[in-house]
Amino acid sequence: MSIIRDIILYAISVLLGVITVGGFMTSIPAGVLFLLATLLCLPATHSLLRKLTGNKAGKGIFALIGFLLALVLAFAGGMLAANKERAEEETKSNAKTAGSISTIHMSVVEDDSTQRNDVGENDSVQSDDAGKDALTDTEDKSDTEKKISQETTNDIPEPSRLEVHFLDVGQGDATLIKCGGQYMLIDAGDDTKGTVIWNYLRKQGVETLDYLILTHPDSDHIGGAPVVLTKFDVNHVFVSNYKKDTTAYHKLIQALDDQLIEAATPNTGSTYNLGNATFQILAPVNTYNNANDSSIALMVTHGENTFLFTGDAEIQAEADMLVNGNSVDADVYQVGHHGSSSSSSSNFLNAVSPAYAVISCEEGNSYGHPHAEVLNNLRTMDVDVFRTDEQGSIVATSDGKEITWNCAPTTSWQAGERTLSGGRDDDEGDTDELVEAESDSEKTDYDGEYILNTNTMKFHLPDCASVDEMAEENKETSKLSREEIMEDGYEACQNCNP
Ligand SMILES: [Zn+2]
Ligand SMILES: [Zn+2]
Repeated sequence: MSIIRDIILYAISVLLGVITVGGFMTSIPAGVLFLLATLLCLPATHSLLRKLTGNKAGKGIFALIGFLLALVLAFAGGMLAANKERAEEETKSNAKTAGSISTIHMSVVEDDSTQRNDVGENDSVQSDDAGKDALTDTEDKSDTEKKISQETTNDIPEPSRLEVHFLDVGQGDATLIKCGGQYMLIDAGDDTKGTVIWNYLRKQGVETLDYLILTHPDSDHIGGAPVVLTKFDVNHVFVSNYKKDTTAYHKLIQALDDQLIEAATPNTGSTYNLGNATFQILAPVNTYNNANDSSIALMVTHGENTFLFTGDAEIQAEADMLVNGNSVDADVYQVGHHGSSSSSSSNFLNAVSPAYAVISCEEGNSYGHPHAEVLNNLRTMDVDVFRTDEQGSIVATSDGKEITWNCAPTTSWQAGERTLSGGRDDDEGDTDELVEAESDSEKTDYDGEYILNTNTMKFHLPDCASVDEMAEENKETSKLSREEIMEDGYEACQNCNP
């Protein structure tokens, strides 16, 4: 055996080890490299060392050392390669293929089935569409989003950066705020968005939420909260003092009970820390007889930058905030009540005088959000407006002085169209249940009971054939109105058409 050949073999094995460790060839499975490095290292090292030392008795030990060396190299390389691939996958998450969407969905369903409870069941039933929606939604926008976000967020060192993510959760609100390794979620979309929010937060590295603020108990704000509470450790949960007798609300209370979390109602005026940012509770100032006006409002301050969130607070609550005297002046205003004209009165808007505004609503929503009056006022004030129905999830980054965005503001200035029949208007101060009911309201004559299927999330008339076939444990009788039931996430049966 030639010593030169052994040296060449050894060099090749070291080279392979280096390639593996460097994680340069992540497309080649780490396992193949592992195998090659091991096979080549073993005889080469053994033979080389034996020749160098001339000690035949020691060859077993040398062979073992060579083998272990290859093992360590290949293992370290494999770990590095896997980590690198995972990191790349995360940045490329927007460009996921259909294949990986179904993989994600599978893991969601599996996970939920292992800790089966009401929340998990409903969520897994409904997560399919919601998950796909969110992923396909972001697909279209991935290019600009990725480019801009890499330019902006990576420039600012993590501790002195605040990020506000306005998640695209269709008709509803969910906003993630990151600062100095701490996380706050304001609202959690409706009950079809729990999984979407969970996935988004996981990708943002969230393990613990320092604060979960549920501005008010409408289903488009609390529906996804049970999933969030189940999937993350949550240190503080703030809720409005307004209670509702709806399925979404009862599920939230149940989830809080299950997690042994006591939700608190914060005092208006009090201030909290999030990383090196602070936030102050601005509302509710009074008690109100409707959920929207009872919204918790808060101002997040990061250096010279300010962000205002008012939930669905309407004109009365806004006026009370102004009277109460805490400053509402903000750089970024999350437009109240999804851009409804029942909020963002001229007085309030003037006091906020935002440079930027974000509207969280769903394309083609039946409420006609955002309303033309609000858009026109913002346009007149020369505000840059971002919309989740047009731009998908929107990220604002603050360095304490300036705010940068991951996408361009709207140029459409297109108001929504009200498709709720009956000429009902949010301005009239209707209660929230009526305003937010997602339905055509032609069928309000029926005032009997409905039968709910808590598994399929469909509702039926009592004499519908499906009711007989329904498993007893999924059956629930409801005296709520059609609108209220739909607001809780139930769909009308196609056969009995309740
Ligand atoms: Zn809402
Ligand atoms: Zn509301």
